[in-house]
Amino acid sequence: MSIAQRLARPEILALPPIDIAGAPVPGTIRLDANENPYPALVQGQSALNRYPEPQPADLARRMADLYGVDAQNLWVSRGSDDAIDLLMRAFCTAGRDTVGIVEPTFAAYAQFAQIQGAKVAATRLGADFTFDADEVLRFAQTEQPKILFLCTPNNPTGTRIADAAVERLARALPDTLVVADEAYGEFDEAPSLAPLAASIANLVVLRTLSKAYGLAGARIGCAIAAPDIIGLLAKVSPPYPLPEPSIRAALDALGPERMSAHADRIRLILAERARVATALADVAEIRSIREGGNFLFLEVADPEALAKRLAAAAVRVRFRPNAAPGGVRITIGLPAENAALLAVFGVTDGDRPSRRAEIVRDTKETRIVLAVDLDRPEPRRIDSGIAFYDHMLDQVAAHGGFSLTLACSGDLGIDQHHSIEDVAIALGQALKEALGDKRGIGRFGFAMPMDETSAEVLIDLSGRPFAKFDGGFDSETVGGLPTQMVPHIFRSIADSLGAAIHVRVTGDNDHHKVEACFKAFGRALRQGLAIDGASGALPSTKGML
Ligand SMILES: *Cc1c(COP(=O)(O)O)cnc(C)c1O
Repeated sequence: MSIAQRLARPEILALPPIDIAGAPVPGTIRLDANENPYPALVQGQSALNRYPEPQPADLARRMADLYGVDAQNLWVSRGSDDAIDLLMRAFCTAGRDTVGIVEPTFAAYAQFAQIQGAKVAATRLGADFTFDADEVLRFAQTEQPKILFLCTPNNPTGTRIADAAVERLARALPDTLVVADEAYGEFDEAPSLAPLAASIANLVVLRTLSKAYGLAGARIGCAIAAPDIIGLLAKVSPPYPLPEPSIRAALDALGPERMSAHADRIRLILAERARVATALADVAEIRSIREGGNFLFLEVADPEALAKRLAAAAVRVRFRPNAAPGGVRITIGLPAENAALLAVFGVTDGDRPSRRAEIVRDTKETRIVLAVDLDRPEPRRIDSGIAFYDHMLDQVAAHGGFSLTLACSGDLGIDQHHSIEDVAIALGQALKEALGDKRGIGRFGFAMPMDETSAEVLIDLSGRPFAKFDGGFDSETVGGLPTQMVPHIFRSIADSLGAAIHVRVTGDNDHHKVEACFKAFGRALRQGLAIDGASGALPSTKGML
């Protein structure tokens, strides 16, 4: 007998599937769903007059790929909260079945259990919030829960449960669905249990796009489990649970070329987590600090007093008195937000304005994510799809002394023009945004010789776009980059950055000339970007020798 047949509510097993109009088939006339035939009066969202796919096939495939399982093992849900609720409704008979939890943990497990009318049996993490698998096993053998929820890393304590412990519990409790909630899995080095959920019948893994992928507002998560469990979730799910704009947004955000941008953000959040934890280490009113996921869990001496100071500073955190008397869960935010939090604890964090900007630019022709961080030289990872252009942009960032990451997928087969131009526009926008209100103050210039070539770039970060290019090229392309695009690149940057950029280049070798323009541009930018730092940070003339 399959796990679903053994454990599910009998009345759910007996229920026929919901009778809904299926996914649209191209070329068919849709008169089956009582939709309005007229497109929605919403710009860019005209397809909203139609019901979405009951399960979005493309997104299910993408998420299955992301988590290393087959699409048949995955149910896309309205956030993983929804998956928790679906599991309760599919497996727990009101008044009879029990749900097991290990406190302190995510409140939704007990909440949804109670809504379903299931009993809640709880054990607690051990001293120092450690997870004791023997104790949890004893607890589950006594209580015989239909579903046992394990959250790893645990919200709010950050406790990580070893994979082997989860596997052991699942194998030792064949009549219990063991659910591993990996909402914060991306912030943890431990490998996901997802592949195991495809092979252990009573193991279910929950994942979400809300935390690591920045899509809390789209409400997309999933359950990963044996196909018969997935089939049951489909049965108890409302029809068409996922809004079309959310499906689109998730597919866009999870584009394979965007994964490195996600990884960069996760690294930034983890670095901030470590920095904030270190900064709080010596604060007397804090008794303990734990790190987990994208948050910290503190125990403070006087939560009421802290609450007042936080309110005065308009900083919101979560007090968790049930987890520990002075328990506070604090989400890691942007550096400036974290600085505001630290200030509440009396820790001055320096005046660290965040001079990082990230531009997402999707058009019919190109899909771009470009990030700059003016206060650090690394990472530089540039993929425009045009190798020589990558090299030139790398020169700009290297000589400019700033971090630049770029992923661009464009229709290079038809014309490189769009990719080249759109990347230049995005770079200008990112620099402008990162400079914030510090722009509009300076004029900078840099001249450099390169063998027989000399290039001079003058920049005025005035807010007024103007581009002048003095020079020409004999070759049509250099390294695959059309030379006629070179002046165009500087014009695009000038327009979107809001700067006057004057380039003058002379020489015999077109390769040298192109390269010298970009290098000199980077050097001129370096001066502009360093304006609020130590004036000694201006580059020496050494770089041009
Ligand atoms: C945030 C969170 C969720 C819910 O995520 P959604 O996908 O946004 O519903 C699930 N489990 C835990 C432990 C969480 O912290």
